[in-house]
Amino acid sequence: MYDVHEIRKDFPILSREVNGKPLVYLDNGASAQKPQVVIDAVTRGYAEEYANVHRGLHYLSNLATEKYEGTRGIIARFLGAKNEDEIVFTSGTTMGINLVAYSWAMPRLQAGDEILLSVMEHHANIVPWHLLRERLGVVLKWVDVDADGGLDPQAVIDAIGPKTKLVAITQLSNVLGTVVDVKTICAAARDRGVPVLVDGSQGAVHMPVDVEDIGCDFYAITGHKLYGPSGSGAIYIKSARMAEMQPFLGGGDMIREVHKDVVTYADPPMKFEAGTPGIVQQIGLGVALDYLMDLGMDKVAAHEHQIATYARARLDGLNWLTVQGTTPDKAAIFSFTLDGAAHAHDISTILDKKGVAVRAGHHCAGPLMDHLGVAATCRASFALYNTEAEVDALVDALELAHELFA
Ligand code: PLP
Repeated sequence: MYDVHEIRKDFPILSREVNGKPLVYLDNGASAQKPQVVIDAVTRGYAEEYANVHRGLHYLSNLATEKYEGTRGIIARFLGAKNEDEIVFTSGTTMGINLVAYSWAMPRLQAGDEILLSVMEHHANIVPWHLLRERLGVVLKWVDVDADGGLDPQAVIDAIGPKTKLVAITQLSNVLGTVVDVKTICAAARDRGVPVLVDGSQGAVHMPVDVEDIGCDFYAITGHKLYGPSGSGAIYIKSARMAEMQPFLGGGDMIREVHKDVVTYADPPMKFEAGTPGIVQQIGLGVALDYLMDLGMDKVAAHEHQIATYARARLDGLNWLTVQGTTPDKAAIFSFTLDGAAHAHDISTILDKKGVAVRAGHHCAGPLMDHLGVAATCRASFALYNTEAEVDALVDALELAHELFA
């Protein structure tokens, strides 16, 4: 039984006030709050168990290494990867996608080769490809979303051509809440010999994920959205793809031997993990993912679905508000504008006065904003601990903003 009120007690920050009002935290799409078990793990990591990993033979280094490396298996389990060697630790999705751009794509792509993207990608899944466009002359090919913000998998499949070398696509839009049928896309891309990178930054937070079932080649996650510490993260890389990659970050930990005129590298995944990593951050991420698996991602998804349904009904009742993205099965992420002149930043400032934290801006999704023809939206993004009462608090605060700006 999923008791959201009991679950809320696991997150100490949720009981604080902001501007004299109970905090209603609806900026989860940007970063999620942390349960006490994660906070404790981070504190313990520094207070009692800290040393550098992989290098020392002393007690604390072995302990830290064991806990840090333990997270690899936890991530593999969370993502349904067969083998924990397919998990590369990163500092988040941005680093994971850059790793694919520099270590996999850069050595094999040439001018004229195409990378296929949807128009609703986050900048983290756009700018690394722009960098390759600037350096190599690769071509970015875009697939639009439908009028309701849905992405037809067939439109992506139809856009795959002889020059397509990679499909890089989000599983869940951080702006529209649209869920993408990445499994269908992966199956068709595989038939055409084209690898698929899935940006799982939002998808892994809101639904159970099984990378084997999806059939993707790369799946990137970011720890801070998964209730873990910022600076933690990972990317699943299918072993066949990992074998094709060359390291792009050089330094300690990723080598076997270094001499004046020769260097040999560690086996993957460590080959792609140069330098001292976010030790305690990754340990905290392991604890966060265990917490999620204990709750059950299917139960989290069911709870959020209920919140999404309620929020949609309440927001639909406001005839002066326009929600972007109306696909029936969307996640509990609502980007909206208020009719009239009020800017998204002004709306979010009013909401903040009522203790309601939302995001306002372009949400790192420039091409989508261009496509929608809006400069900025407010975004309320819900998490496993949000309640229907918090949807009501959002609507009350929006009504106030509407009165002020009408
Ligand atoms: N992709 C999506 C869909 C996101 O929502 C985000 C974060 O907002 C990112 C990528 C980038 O994540 P990070 O900044 O943690 O690397």
